[in-house]
Amino acid sequence: MSKQPTIGLVSLGCPKALVDSERIGTTLRAQGYRFSPDYEGADVVIVNTCGFLDSAKAESLEAIGEAVNENGRVIVTGCLGTEAELIRATHPKVLAVTGPHQYEAVVEAVHAAVPPVERPFEDLVPAEGLRLTPAHYAYLKISEGCNNRCSFCIIPAIRGDLVSRPAARVLYEAERLIGSGTKELMVISQDTSAYGVDVKYATSKFHGRPVAARFFDICEELGKLGAWIRLHYVYPYPHVDKVIDLMAAGAILPYLDIPFQHAAPGILKAMRRPANQEKTLARIAAWRQTCPDLAIRSTFIVGFPGETEEDFVQLLDWLDEAQIDRAGCFEYEPVKGAKSNDLEGHVPPEVKKERYGRLMERAQAISTRKLAAKVGRTIDVLVDEVRQGEDVAIARSKWDAPEIDGQVIIEGAASLKPGDLITVKITGSDEYDLFGKQIAKN
Ligand code: SF4
Repeated sequence: MSKQPTIGLVSLGCPKALVDSERIGTTLRAQGYRFSPDYEGADVVIVNTCGFLDSAKAESLEAIGEAVNENGRVIVTGCLGTEAELIRATHPKVLAVTGPHQYEAVVEAVHAAVPPVERPFEDLVPAEGLRLTPAHYAYLKISEGCNNRCSFCIIPAIRGDLVSRPAARVLYEAERLIGSGTKELMVISQDTSAYGVDVKYATSKFHGRPVAARFFDICEELGKLGAWIRLHYVYPYPHVDKVIDLMAAGAILPYLDIPFQHAAPGILKAMRRPANQEKTLARIAAWRQTCPDLAIRSTFIVGFPGETEEDFVQLLDWLDEAQIDRAGCFEYEPVKGAKSNDLEGHVPPEVKKERYGRLMERAQAISTRKLAAKVGRTIDVLVDEVRQGEDVAIARSKWDAPEIDGQVIIEGAASLKPGDLITVKITGSDEYDLFGKQIAKN
């Protein structure tokens, strides 16, 4: 494997600048960059500057000078970036200068200085889906690594076992993001419901109060912060049931992203996943009773080694019974170093492709039916984009995560802006999207 490109990050200034640094850091992490605690280990150093007061300017220029001397390859961003001439006159060797909130420009400059290494099976965010999150939503990572050993996955071999972040650190980060205008937080990790197992649910103090690093506790606390909280990469362990109560109470979004991967017991065993799908169906039914509005997103792998037609049909039938609202599907591909490579019965590419098509067709029929049932309802949506020329706003409901799920398309909404929370009446639907009319701005 090629060496992971490594970044040094010096962050100066106010909490907003810190959030900017975190955003830049999150994006680069998702793209496979590592961070170095010192100048020596970094391929390039980003200096996020402050230019509010003269003293802050002087401090920023000094920090740039130090990075140039110690490392030599420096990208400057942040508030002082608006004075590019001053920076270049003082430190002619800097590679690039960008201004505050110009995340994309910084990431581009990093790509130019040290190109990313593509690792499609290790990254939480696939390369093709990567973009910087706009200000109104953000990803909140609660842990790294994974204690599971799914046979098709090499993440634990690369990132190691689960390492949970202290609850207070997660909550302070969430609070900072919300304070800077974020309306929706996507909780991510490799195994969200295992949060805290590694640290034995240790407590840490959030505004003086002890909070345990436990899945339910962190969900409950995040639910008090006044933003949309969306859970990704949840595994259906028994303690997930309690979190459904928080969804029913409106504290967190009625949305669960659970990568089930398959439903046939033999395949789940070969995948080394928890297997009892009968019980899972009963649990999904119980969740829906507690929280009728719950949307379940899942991903599935078709054509896993040894998958027979019978196994595949079992998966299709399970999908129908579970009524998975949003399903994504991948054709199995061997990953270098994964245990599943050694399994018998690799499925020919044309069979994988055919099964992919059949699964997506089944999933689309479920999605179409479920969305049609929402026509006539009044719901809250979050605006992602406004297309002025077309007089149309693209928003999302509580049942849709950005990038991967559907949209709510609102006509006659040119006065809106990204990040607005509005109430709409649903007037139509298709396979994946809803159509609506604005009723009120929240
Ligand atoms: S749960 Fe399985 S697929 Fe997910 S990161 Fe852990 S080992 Fe990989």
